[in-house]
Amino acid sequence: MTLRIGCIADDFTGGTDVAAAFRRAGLRTALVFGVPGDDAALPGDCDAAVVALKSRSTPAGEAVAESLATQKWLWSQGAAQVYFKYCSTFDSTPAGNIGPVTDALLDAAGAPLTLSCPASPPNGRTVYQGHLFVHDQPLDESPLRHHPLNPMTDASLPRLLSAQTEHRVGLVDWATVRRGVEAVREALLRFERDGVRHVIADALTDEDLAVLGAAALELPVVTGAAGLAEGLGHAYPSAGHAVADTPLPGGRAAVLAGSCSARTLEQIAHFHSAGLPALHLDVLAAAAGQDVASAALDWYEAQDRDVPVLVYASASPGELAAVQARLGVTEAAAQVEELLGTLAAELVRRGVRKLLVAGGETSGAVTSALGVRAVLVGDEADPGVPWTYTDGLALMLKSGNFGAPDLFVRALEDTTR
Ligand code: ADP
Repeated sequence: MTLRIGCIADDFTGGTDVAAAFRRAGLRTALVFGVPGDDAALPGDCDAAVVALKSRSTPAGEAVAESLATQKWLWSQGAAQVYFKYCSTFDSTPAGNIGPVTDALLDAAGAPLTLSCPASPPNGRTVYQGHLFVHDQPLDESPLRHHPLNPMTDASLPRLLSAQTEHRVGLVDWATVRRGVEAVREALLRFERDGVRHVIADALTDEDLAVLGAAALELPVVTGAAGLAEGLGHAYPSAGHAVADTPLPGGRAAVLAGSCSARTLEQIAHFHSAGLPALHLDVLAAAAGQDVASAALDWYEAQDRDVPVLVYASASPGELAAVQARLGVTEAAAQVEELLGTLAAELVRRGVRKLLVAGGETSGAVTSALGVRAVLVGDEADPGVPWTYTDGLALMLKSGNFGAPDLFVRALEDTTR
């Protein structure tokens, strides 16, 4: 058994993001969707396995139960260390879920303490004196202050975490991190002697995260965003062996988009301007009982097999508001997700072998419609957006705001010939 590191991600596209980080560190990486059953198997030989849950905003008890079941499964697959991945903006509330899940993972592992750092320097997330910055703003002055589910109104990680755990929280400051791996290890030992259980670390650069990763190599539980995962990955002895990229399979290529994020709308506009075939789905017509899926499949059959096609429900803010006003937010989303799930299954049945999916929730709907439980992670087309592989099918699952404006065309255009 070669598996070295296990990871629990608290949301779907966070799972893709952290899997890409392990892969950048030169680890062969698998990504599994949802709590694996006892008989679940990894899709191939790997050094890292990431399980993507949807536990960021669920009640803390549920998040803890799912995380513990996943930790147990990762251990059964040979993972000595479990990395708990959450958002680089520390999305949580005083009720959790970062504190309760971390405490439960530590209890189950019998571990005295953990090292935590949500910094992600390429995305402008840094930690200094325990305060989380988003580019040049402290977290509580950034747009995250107005997040609909987890409004972040404090930038102090020790304070945020102290509200979520009854255990002591400490800080390894930047001066210590700059002194290197041994200095951080000594600080961890001191914290352990003093009964501190959650050790937050400062980090301003990827170099700092590499130091923290090396210092945390022996800890059974480590937590943070994709940045510290990559630092940890680089410290693994199995890291850095050349991971050969899997060739993309032959067959047709398609994009299914359900994200209404600004970047996805730009990517759709770019696809149009490249003169490639694109079809907008009428969500209100589908809700009124019209067979929008069959019409879309007829359209698909009429297209040139050698070029990628785009089918999208994604709507501009105005159009989205109108649909939501008519159907309600939940019903509108359910319509879209059912439609795109049905189309994904049919497109694959009709020969699509390269499928790019835009949107976190949309990716969840598509993978469940396809019955995909696990994939192997390949090269990134853009940061945090890797190709993944399963049973002759290449899937690219992207969070709404990820990827450059030309991603759809660049990732797919030359793959169909
Ligand atoms: P992102 O990663 O950008 O957040 P998601 O797929 O997670 O994208 O979320 C987009 C949400 O918008 C989904 O729930 C989807 O069902 C919904 N949606 C997409 N298109 C429409 C539309 N035309 N009308 C109403 N809701 C839509």
